Amino acid sequence: MIEKTVSGLKLLLFENLAPYGGLTHAVTTRIGGVSPPPFHSLNLGTGTADAAENIEENYRRLAQALGFNLSSVVTSHQVHGDRIASINAIPNRQVQFPRAHALDGYDAFITDKKNIILMVRVADCVPIILYDPTNRVIALIHAGWRGTVASVALKTVEVMIRDYGCSPKTIRAGIGPSIGACCFSVRPDVAVLFHDRFGHNCPYIREASGTIYIDLAGLNWMQLQASGIRAEHIELSGICTACNLHLFFSHRGEQGKTGRFVLCAGLRV
Ligand SMILES: [Zn+2]
Repeated sequence: MIEKTVSGLKLLLFENLAPYGGLTHAVTTRIGGVSPPPFHSLNLGTGTADAAENIEENYRRLAQALGFNLSSVVTSHQVHGDRIASINAIPNRQVQFPRAHALDGYDAFITDKKNIILMVRVADCVPIILYDPTNRVIALIHAGWRGTVASVALKTVEVMIRDYGCSPKTIRAGIGPSIGACCFSVRPDVAVLFHDRFGHNCPYIREASGTIYIDLAGLNWMQLQASGIRAEHIELSGICTACNLHLFFSHRGEQGKTGRFVLCAGLRV
């Protein structure tokens, strides 16, 4: 990924998406916000115990850095599921973002409309962006372990193909910072779900000293390829959130006392 500092915010861009002028996208880091520990400092987690004024100021800074209006942001209360929202317009809302989300119960979004900023919030879960430069369609996905087992990434590509006329051969993908196999051990009851879904010979599920470690980014990389996206069109950040607490919020790495960073993207012109 490419590191870029804009108005004091340290942002990461996918190298394979940065050349597309009609696409705005970024992964935020902890750097550039106003929140005190343990939310230091660019906490964008509206559901965290951080002060609402801090979160709002952090969002204001992000909007200014990327040049979008906060009223154009579409997010959902995420539920670790596999429901996919097709966004054709900014939903009406009584209470403005970031005080309230536009949607509830969705973990993936697709749009082909300009000037809508899609956003997923994470702190270990896998943030994924898909972009079809031919049909000009973007999708964002929040894939935690439940979403990974539920194949939310694969299903999102299927909706892009079915409803937006995309060809997987032209889709570019980016898999952002998330908890690595180095740090993501799971309980036996969770390991069973991964073995049931991905088999016992999957290279992204490993055992060491009786503990199962899961490579969530790798499993999503595999799903995107299974959906028909070319391997050379998928950029894997390779960054573990729990190993890089100076840059990212990590639910596991900070025992739940942490904030959220985001992956956001929108089409323009
Ligand atoms: Zn790690």
